[in-house]
Amino acid sequence: MYFHLILTDECNLCCRYCRAKAFDVLEESDDETAPRIAIDPDLPRDLDFDLDLLYTFLQKDPESTLTFYGGEPLMRADLIDQIVRESPAQRFMIQTNGVLLDRLEPEIVNRFSTILVSLDGGEALTDFNRGAGVYRNVMENVRLIRERGYKGELIARMAVTERTDISEAVHWLSYNPDNSFSSIHWQLDANFAGDFSRREFADWTKTSYNPGIRALVADWIDHMASDGEVMKWYPFLDPMEDLLLGKKSQLRCGSGHANYSIMTDGHIAPCPVMIGMKEYYVGHIRTADPRQLDGIFVGGECTGCGIYDFCGGRCLYSNITKPWKMAERKTVCGTVECLYTALTGAMPRVRALIENGTLAPDAFDHEKFNGCEIIP
Ligand code: SF4
Ligand code: SF4
Repeated sequence: MYFHLILTDECNLCCRYCRAKAFDVLEESDDETAPRIAIDPDLPRDLDFDLDLLYTFLQKDPESTLTFYGGEPLMRADLIDQIVRESPAQRFMIQTNGVLLDRLEPEIVNRFSTILVSLDGGEALTDFNRGAGVYRNVMENVRLIRERGYKGELIARMAVTERTDISEAVHWLSYNPDNSFSSIHWQLDANFAGDFSRREFADWTKTSYNPGIRALVADWIDHMASDGEVMKWYPFLDPMEDLLLGKKSQLRCGSGHANYSIMTDGHIAPCPVMIGMKEYYVGHIRTADPRQLDGIFVGGECTGCGIYDFCGGRCLYSNITKPWKMAERKTVCGTVECLYTALTGAMPRVRALIENGTLAPDAFDHEKFNGCEIIP
């Protein structure tokens, strides 16, 4: 089982699509079925339970993977150091903004099987969203950990907004000679915070994002044909593997069925964003068995959707909280339909590359549930 461990709510950045929005006046969803979600007001800001409880919990699962998460988890580099040294977890991962990556000893960094680092593309865009100097700081740390022997998967994880040219950003992070990333993932800032009417999201998906996805899928396949390699662009990689295998997918981020999140008080939530949503907790590390946690699944319109087996419902959090007006939800689902159409349209070329030996049969193998939400 995969577990996100929330170390702290604190962060050293104030990114435009994240904490900076907390100061906005937000609109409410017009979905009358949207539930009023009670948030636990007493949840501690920092991890506040006996770490032996965590170790005893993880000990019960011989295949546990622990992903450090925040806030910014490296604000508690001390805890990461201690847990990596003491915990019985089989594997460790981290989702970080990368600014403080140099705080960890190389022997700890080199224990991670996957590191997800947030960047939004090139320097100008990243610094606009995340703060002046962030891009160079992160790239310097990425260079440093590679120099110090980190050989695991290094994923550049982008938040994508109307300022993003998706094709340009993915190309930059894939091909820039200074980059050391093995993989790329991106997630739309589809905004769970209620500022849709002030944005140009719908027009941008039509004129920029969706055409960019179609172009990128073509580039991705061209690279397979020319280099015999499948680039690890997660929004394409995971769904394409399933399409080729004829497999239906549950929620692709794994939340609520393969991936759970340990809150700062030890309660277990289905997803790392469902902080304090105690109605949806599935237990506490003091008593729960990590191999027998209840499943929490998407419902509502997703289950009747024509591409549900491909999409998996996209996001449990938004499926529960229903943050969007109808037109907004259709816009987001339209991006999933675009991805589905582009990937299914490319399947004959991919199959031909496998049949003629350009691609190995296992060319699409990858780590599942590694913090990539998959469907952007
Ligand atoms: S495309 Fe939209 S409605 Fe269909 S499964 Fe995905 S999130 Fe649900
Ligand atoms: S995609 Fe949604 S359900 Fe999955 S981890 Fe992200 S917020 Fe949680």
